[in-house]
Amino acid sequence: MNVLQKLTSISSPGLTRSFTVSALNNAKYSCKLLVVGGGSGGCAIAAKFARHLKKDEVYILEPSEDHYFQPLWTLVGAGVKTVSQTRRQMKDVLPTKAKWLKDAAVSIEPKSNLVKTREGHEIQYEYLVVCAGLQNDYGKVPGLTEALKHPASGVSTIYAADYCSKTWSDLKSFKGGEVMFTYPDTPIKCPGAPQKIAYLADAYLRMSHVRSKSNLTYNTCLPVIFGVKKYAETLLKVVERKNIHVNYKTVLKEVRQDKREAVFRTTDDNKEVVLPYNMLHVTPPMKTPDFLRNNQDIADAAGFLEVDKYNLQHTRYPNIYGLGDCTNTPNSKTVAAVAKQLKVVETNLLSTMSRGAAHAQYDGYGACPLLTEYGKCVLAEFVYDGVPHETMPFNQAQESTIAYYMKKDLFPFLYWQFMVRGYYNGPEFVRRIINPLAK
Ligand SMILES: Cc1cc2nc3c(=O)[nH]c(=O)nc-3n(C[C@H](O)[C@H](O)[C@H](O)COP(=O)(O)OP(=O)(O)OC[C@H]3O[C@@H](n4cnc5c(N)ncnc54)[C@H](O)[C@@H]3O)c2cc1C
Repeated sequence: MNVLQKLTSISSPGLTRSFTVSALNNAKYSCKLLVVGGGSGGCAIAAKFARHLKKDEVYILEPSEDHYFQPLWTLVGAGVKTVSQTRRQMKDVLPTKAKWLKDAAVSIEPKSNLVKTREGHEIQYEYLVVCAGLQNDYGKVPGLTEALKHPASGVSTIYAADYCSKTWSDLKSFKGGEVMFTYPDTPIKCPGAPQKIAYLADAYLRMSHVRSKSNLTYNTCLPVIFGVKKYAETLLKVVERKNIHVNYKTVLKEVRQDKREAVFRTTDDNKEVVLPYNMLHVTPPMKTPDFLRNNQDIADAAGFLEVDKYNLQHTRYPNIYGLGDCTNTPNSKTVAAVAKQLKVVETNLLSTMSRGAAHAQYDGYGACPLLTEYGKCVLAEFVYDGVPHETMPFNQAQESTIAYYMKKDLFPFLYWQFMVRGYYNGPEFVRRIINPLAK
């Protein structure tokens, strides 16, 4: 442990948590395990290691006051949930046996096992887990930030706590016209969400009797509706049933809020297309946080933490592991993927700590509950290379009511009660019991 442990312990009945004293600048801390990011992955892996290690051997570096269960933002946009139902205070979800430094990483020096923070502190670590997620890159689309901030612009996104309720208010006040949805040309989290909100918007506009006065268009950079063929076949039927026009290989480049125009570029022929809108739902471009993206020592050319796609260990620094959206593993970036990765990182990091090999392997599992109606959902589950890997004993490519309630009620329950506490590693155990014959 370090010389300058400038931390204060604050106790309350039944809870002991250590906080940093933010007034102390240029403090030097040291810990056995540093977890950078206290979101879905960080919270859960810290909880696991807080049980494996001694009190305060695990540090969590996380700047936010609030922790969100982001998958519910789609249902906020559709008026089924509220933002407050997706939020908990960070202090209530991080493990009490770990130290939370309410600060952000600005650089990692892997050769010296050192992380520098925004407040000017330094943290020496023995082992590091990086799980800093993906951030919205609004600046990449000129006019987008202003349009999102303007309350009457008709422009919103379910991809942010600040704007997902705006999608719902835009839908409620919509009286007919052009409704646009977008999918950007960067990796994004939950690649199904941009079309889920289009399907729910269609369903709501039908219920509110304005669908016949509206045209819905889904503009996606991709050449297909969904990357896994089995589910794409169903989704193409949904698109047809709902009469949603799909523009493939089409990317949003600018929002002209004053004229209510969206400027797109087609990727095949690089042509500019200007489309008018009355309501625009944007899935923003995304990027990893600066401290990671700009560090060629630990990141790949695209700015993602470079790990082995199976054992999740850094390819050059064996005392560093990656978890969740910020790694370069070619899986679908979802909480479902994080859950499956947790056990792999736990097993391999424990092994690394005792000088063993990192044998546990992540199979690329990810899941995407594709909401198609209020009350219907296609529960896509798959592993690397888009191979379906289903849990339920029925064909999950069919729209199902059970899957809808799993998404709306069961998954949030599992998340808050088990996953953030480090007790949920995905549905594999359920799958083995209820679907034993599946490959
Ligand atoms: C609209 C939407 C719908 C979704 N739907 C689904 C779904 O249906 N199913 C599903 O499984 N997944 C879904 N997801 C994806 C899921 O929420 C993410 O994949 C998951 O949260 C990733 O976890 P993470 O820990 O990698 O990142 P996050 O949970 O985003 O956490 C990253 C943390 O890192 C912190 N951080 C950032 N920069 C720094 C820094 N410099 N220093 C320290 N900490 C930092 C952040 O504050 C944050 O707390 C959805 C996401 C969205 C937005």
